[in-house]
Amino acid sequence: MATPVIPSFCQTCGGALRETLSQAGEGPPFICTSCGRAVYLDPKLAVAAVVTTENQGVVLLRRAQRDKAYGKWILPGGHVDRGEEVTKAALREVKEETGLSVRLDGPLRVYSYESNPTVLIAYAATATSGELIMSPEALEIKVFPFDLIPWDELGYLSTRQALKDLLPVSCL
Ligand SMILES: [Zn+2]
Repeated sequence: MATPVIPSFCQTCGGALRETLSQAGEGPPFICTSCGRAVYLDPKLAVAAVVTTENQGVVLLRRAQRDKAYGKWILPGGHVDRGEEVTKAALREVKEETGLSVRLDGPLRVYSYESNPTVLIAYAATATSGELIMSPEALEIKVFPFDLIPWDELGYLSTRQALKDLLPVSCL
């Protein structure tokens, strides 16, 4: 996941921000030196889907974005837009990244990690229609049978945990 961006300037007046000495959860981490505005850094909400197909497979894509997870297999997903319904964000991201229309079968779990700004909600989903397509965000897209998941080449800890949360124990 990306390193959190540290803001330098106030969104209200453009003044320089000063880092406060507050501990996590106690008071704002930044104060504007010009207007005194308190600036908080919020988590980023993301969604992903473990999409299963009728032939007992899971859709994974190989990440094309050049970061730590480059070239690794990840779930289709992305950030939730402000004001967007989370389930709609999941359907949108899956469609954009895989070409598939899916039915959301329910949330699997919420995944969050110390010092990581992203909070991920993963859904279990079933492919209902559409053909697999490659988006510019993927180097490759593939349906993996449950027993052939590339466990050593997954992009994120959340990818691994969401797959483990969904797949039958016999496939782990
Ligand atoms: Zn300000």
